[in-house]
This record gives sequence, structure tokens and C-alpha cells, in this order.
Amino acid sequence: MKKISLHNQIFIAMFVGLVVGMGLNPYFDKGSAFAVHIVWWMDLIGKDIFIGGLKMIIAPLVLASVVTGITTLPRAEALGQIGGKMALYYVGTTSVAVIIGISLILVIQPGNRDASKEVRAKREAVLEKHRATFKMDTGRDPLAKENKEDYLAFLALQDGAPPDAANKLSHMRKTTEDVSPGELIKTQLLSPMLTNPFNSLANANTLGIIFFAVLLGLACLMLGESAAPVVKLFSAMNDIIMKITLWIMELSPVAIACLMGSTMATLGFGALETLGWYSMTIILALIIHSIFIVSLVSYLATIRPVFFLRGIRDAWMVAFSTASSAATLPVTLNCVTKKLKVSDEVAEFSLPVGATVNMDGSALHEAVAIMFLIQLYGGMDDVSVTLTMTNTIVIAVTAVIASAGVAAIPSAGLVALAIIANTVGLPLHYIFLVLAVDRILDMCRTATNVMGDAAGAVVVNYWEQKRQERQA
Ligand code: ASP
Repeated sequence: MKKISLHNQIFIAMFVGLVVGMGLNPYFDKGSAFAVHIVWWMDLIGKDIFIGGLKMIIAPLVLASVVTGITTLPRAEALGQIGGKMALYYVGTTSVAVIIGISLILVIQPGNRDASKEVRAKREAVLEKHRATFKMDTGRDPLAKENKEDYLAFLALQDGAPPDAANKLSHMRKTTEDVSPGELIKTQLLSPMLTNPFNSLANANTLGIIFFAVLLGLACLMLGESAAPVVKLFSAMNDIIMKITLWIMELSPVAIACLMGSTMATLGFGALETLGWYSMTIILALIIHSIFIVSLVSYLATIRPVFFLRGIRDAWMVAFSTASSAATLPVTLNCVTKKLKVSDEVAEFSLPVGATVNMDGSALHEAVAIMFLIQLYGGMDDVSVTLTMTNTIVIAVTAVIASAGVAAIPSAGLVALAIIANTVGLPLHYIFLVLAVDRILDMCRTATNVMGDAAGAVVVNYWEQKRQERQA
């Protein structure tokens, strides 16, 4: 009997997971012990074993692959050229993603739809109630903003979120308060880069691992013969980790069915309905951006779109179901080198960097989410910000910068949302509205992030080939 190919197995698994999850959703919502039990098992296989396994190898993989990528490049100055082009490509495509997102939200106006107006009216009523209670208790109006303490105490009162979410919120508030662009670059990029490498490895701080790996690789290149054993060690380590990846991938069909099943059973599509226009705007923008990326890669690297899409489908599906670019990295590396014929050195260097800093989908999502919240709540008594041209530009620029600092793990984009909200002056508790649909949108944006990384590797590989041909 003909063996079903891995991507078809994954595809079938996604479908089965979706159907089973949707079937379980009503029972899970009613608190049925059976449904809760099944979801527990699905989480065990999907999240704890499969994602856990992929996460286990991220830190050594990033270190080994970046060092190997650099040390196998023909010459040290090639690194500078490749690095420069890559940076340009990443910033360019991420900016396009943000522009597409902003254009769509301005056209569709999800925050000004009838359904959204109802949400705003409800919010205004709650706000008035809280304000009256606060006034009665303290004799002061918290929204007069004369007293910052009162205002902050009032904001804390608004959280009304479940305890762990409220904790997260106050943590976000502390870490993102008053961030200037300089501070943003310092805390999001510089400090994680200049961290003790052993700490970075232990905490999967990919930015720190990459920076150290680049230095290590460059030093090896310069030392030549005396560093040869280290180069060999990392290269062997790289091969070993790719082998382990293939073992973990054997689990992928079952694990992906479980991941989809548990997500759908716990969320259902109901969440999408409540924030329908908002979710639709993001999904549509992500689709348009993906079409742009596929066209760009086929134009720049002269390959057929179908060839590219076929080559990345395993990585795309794993990204969609795990919502983590980092966890998908081993699979992306495999797809790009085996199916898209990108050279090992370019893939090993560009993909870990791409998975860490090139987040087209996340940047798009952040810009749209903040603009949606301002469309919806802007100008209310406790939200002084409105959607002006200046604010739109600030949101776009901050989204591009903040996305580079977003960790490549599920829901990490929410921290960037908090940063942008703070920058434009949107009170943080409003972010909770979009949390309800975040998991599903995270799956979509992560798939776009990974597609962008793969496209980047293909383009850089093509440029590098051309450069080598010119020099030959
Ligand atoms: N989950 C995304 C990723 O891993 C990051 C985000 O939350 O935006 O690419």
C-alpha cells in the first residue's frame, strides 16, 4: 500500500482535530468531565510532548546552526553582505505587512461596526458604574486625572480579569510603562543580545544565542586551523539535532490532531464571532500579505509560486498548529534545505535569525489590534487617544520595531501590544478584549511569520548564488 506523505497526514490530522474539537466544544463548555479528560490527554500529547520536544532542541539548534552557517560561508565579508541584504529584506517586508494591515482596517473599520458600537456602549456603562463607586468610596473623580495614583488605582479596578490574567496585566504595565523608542531598543533588543550565553541557552533567549553564535562563528573563521575542532563539533551537533527533529516529526500527525482538537474544544468558533469583523480584517490582511510574499519570492528568486508553497507546507502547517515560530524552526530548516534547495549555510544562518526577529504576521496583528481598539474605544472618558494621522504613523513604526523583539512563542505578541498601547496612551486593560480570539489569530500570524522567514531564506540564497557566480 502506498504510504501517505507527511504533509497529507498532517493535513488530515488538522481536519480530524478540528472536527473532534468542535464536537467536544459544547460539552467542554458545560464542564463535562469526559470532555475535560479528553482535552487533558490532547494537551499532553500535543503541547507537553510534541511542542515540548521541539522546544527542547531550539537552544542547541540555534547555536549549532548559526555557528555552522557562518563558518561554512566562503568568506567573512560574505557575511556582512548577506546580513545587510537580509536586514533590508526583513524590514521591508515587515513594513509592507503593517501597511497592508493598516490599509485594511481603515477600509473595513471593524471598530465602527454596529456590533462594535454595542460593545462600546456596554463598556461606557460599566465605566460609569466603576467611576461612581470610586467617587462614592473616595470622594474623588478618578478620571479627572489630577491624581495619577487615583487614575492607576482606577485602572487596576478595571482589570476585572481572571487572577492570572490580572497578574499578567500588572506585570505588563510595570514592564512597559513609559517606554521611549530608545528604551524600547535597549530593553527589547540590546539587553537580551548582551546576556551571558549560558543564561541565554538556559532561558531559550534566541536573540542572545544568535548574537553569541555570530561572534563565535566569526572568531572561528578568523582563527582558522586552531579553531577547526570547534567548527567540526558544531557541525556534527547540527546534524545530530536535525536527526532528532526528524524523530519528533514522526509524532507530528497525531500531535497536530491533538493540538487542533484541544484548541477548538476549549475555544470553539464562538470567540471569532464576537470579534468577527476584527478577526476577519486580520485574517484577510494576512492572506493578502502572504500573496505578496509568494509573488515577491517568485519574482526576486525566479521560482514558481507553487514550488515555493509546496516546499513550505509542512512548516506552514506546524506553525499554524503550534503557534510558535521557534518550535517550527527545525521543520522550517528541513523544508527549506531539502525541498526548496536553499544551501545549508544560508538556511542555517538566515532561518534562526528570521524566526527570532522577522515577524511580518505579528507586526501586522499588533498594528491592526491597537488601531481596532482605538477605533472602538477612542475618545471615551478614560481613553484620551484617538486615531489621528500621527498616531497611525507612531503605531506603524512601533509595530515594526516591537515585532523584532517578540519572542517566537505562542501569545508573545501580546507583550508588544502592551508596548504599543503604552506608546500611544491606550490603557492596558482594553487589550483584554482581543485576548478572547488571540489563540486562533496567533496560529494565523505565526504561519505568516514562518512563510516570511522561508521566503527570506530563498531570496537570500538566490542573491548569494548570483554573487558567487559573478565572482567565479
Ligand atoms: N506566536 C508568534 C510566533 O511564534 C509570535 C506572536 O505571538 O506574535 O511567531
